[in-house]
Amino acid sequence: MKIKDLLLAEVDGYCPVCGDRSRDLTEHHLRQSTPKVHTYENRLMICRPCHDDHHAGKDPKAEALLSIKRRLIARTLTIPGLNALKEARRRGGVVAAPYLVNHLIEMRLISRKSVLSTHVWKGVEAVGEAFYTITDSGKDLLKKWRF
Ligand SMILES: [Zn+2]
Ligand SMILES: [Zn+2]
Repeated sequence: MKIKDLLLAEVDGYCPVCGDRSRDLTEHHLRQSTPKVHTYENRLMICRPCHDDHHAGKDPKAEALLSIKRRLIARTLTIPGLNALKEARRRGGVVAAPYLVNHLIEMRLISRKSVLSTHVWKGVEAVGEAFYTITDSGKDLLKKWRF
């Protein structure tokens, strides 16, 4: 999944600030810098009026946008995903079923080191469990957002 698709999916068509779903969403960079940082965690889709208000110094303030983004990150990572990421940080790796953590691989937060078990059902082979380690971006994300 491309980052842009992920950003749109995480707000599900709604502005996460005002809850409106009829307005065009635009991309806001949480940390303003030159050049802009285009990572998933630095970008948030919000509606144009909320975006204009923010940049005019009105609500939503930067702090409010950061706390919205933190909630969205937690939801995007999912509870099992976040747990897997924390365990990988704490113990140097985590054993998990692929379907619980594949989104973390797409987001480059973990990487798969080895397949521990495979199962065959009706001629179809599937990975049962694999061993994953956390990447530097995974560590950065947990640290920066205090997970
Ligand atoms: Zn809005
Ligand atoms: Zn902006």
